[in-house]
Amino acid sequence: MRIRNDHGRFETRAIHAGQESDPRNGAVMPPVYLTTTYEQDAPAEPREGYEYSRTTNPTRLCLEENVASLEGGGWGLCFSSGMAATNALLDKLVPGDHVVCGNDLYGGTYRIFRSVFERYGIGFTPVDAADPDSLRAAMEERTRFVFVESPTNPLLHLCDIATMAEIAHAGGALAVVDNTFATPYLQRPLELGADVVVHSMSKYLGGHSDVIAGALVGKDEALREEFAFFQNSVGGCLEALSSFLVLRGIKTLPVRMDRHCANARAVAEFLEAQPAVERVIYPGLASHPQHELAARQMSDFGGMLSFELTGGIEAANAFAMATRVFTLAESLGGVESLVEVPTSMTHAAIPAAERHAAGLADGLVRLSVGIEHVDDLLEDVTRALASADGRRSAQEAG
Ligand SMILES: *Cc1c(COP(=O)(O)O)cnc(C)c1O
Repeated sequence: MRIRNDHGRFETRAIHAGQESDPRNGAVMPPVYLTTTYEQDAPAEPREGYEYSRTTNPTRLCLEENVASLEGGGWGLCFSSGMAATNALLDKLVPGDHVVCGNDLYGGTYRIFRSVFERYGIGFTPVDAADPDSLRAAMEERTRFVFVESPTNPLLHLCDIATMAEIAHAGGALAVVDNTFATPYLQRPLELGADVVVHSMSKYLGGHSDVIAGALVGKDEALREEFAFFQNSVGGCLEALSSFLVLRGIKTLPVRMDRHCANARAVAEFLEAQPAVERVIYPGLASHPQHELAARQMSDFGGMLSFELTGGIEAANAFAMATRVFTLAESLGGVESLVEVPTSMTHAAIPAAERHAAGLADGLVRLSVGIEHVDDLLEDVTRALASADGRRSAQEAG
């Protein structure tokens, strides 16, 4: 596949790749092709390959070329959600196959592995993906994928992607990276040796908390054909209006990410100086155990951070309820700042013993730092910390 307008630097390709003005009227944005089917010139002679919109849609094709260009891939395929993209990836496996994966993956990914594909006779071995020896030790002859996230959620552990890819390839497996948290603006796994990148475009790529979408991106054309077959056969394809919304979101990805990173760093540094805060987890802080790897593997450190309050779960819940600029909600990656308490919300389904063993303290708070004015964010955090502390003092006194 030749990608249209695949030239210039990242910021330029974010705006133009896969898109050109409409030759009939000059419209600069691709039309939203809300069509199910396409007129053919003769039986079995579709024009430019368009037959039916589950298989191919012009608006979706623009987005597919765009994400392929941004990840430095040869192809992209877009799905109705991040989970639909992961589903298409796993459709490649047959009973007896095996996957080595990170042990703190997105909850939905863990669920589709364990509750859907394990029933089809596919094995999953979760390991600490930050440790190359653990990855290597988990490889089996039947291992087909090594699947990791970096940074992870909510503990922001990193995986050395180049080393992971070497380990996967030495075992004859494909290296797969969920690049949702970093985005291709900050980290490009295919350039580090990975074979397939998975995205939830519902997060930073869409960027405005208004669309659910996913993607697979890769280099090898034979893989594209396999995954395009599953996209069409299973049917989890992205529809035209959602494709348009993600295309629009991606145009501002670089400027949004710059602000996300700057704001997150300011909030992380501020929190690190507060006595009520036990520790701050942000790859951009020198205190992060993998700060050096982050600086090498990513061009900046992202908009996600977590911190632990000394007051435990009560303080965490009180903090999350006291913010006014940070909205109490799951999800991440939109322009607005969000706060959540993993123990009570996104990670509540994981038994307490497992959570603690993985290092997820009850008092952990996760922030998706948005692109509002940084002073409003710092004032909000200050107010919420005081409120959380006030509740605790009142409880102790009472
Ligand atoms: C949200 C998310 C997903 C799932 O994507 P959906 O678009 O919600 O289906 C997968 N991986 C990560 C890291 C995510 O944050």
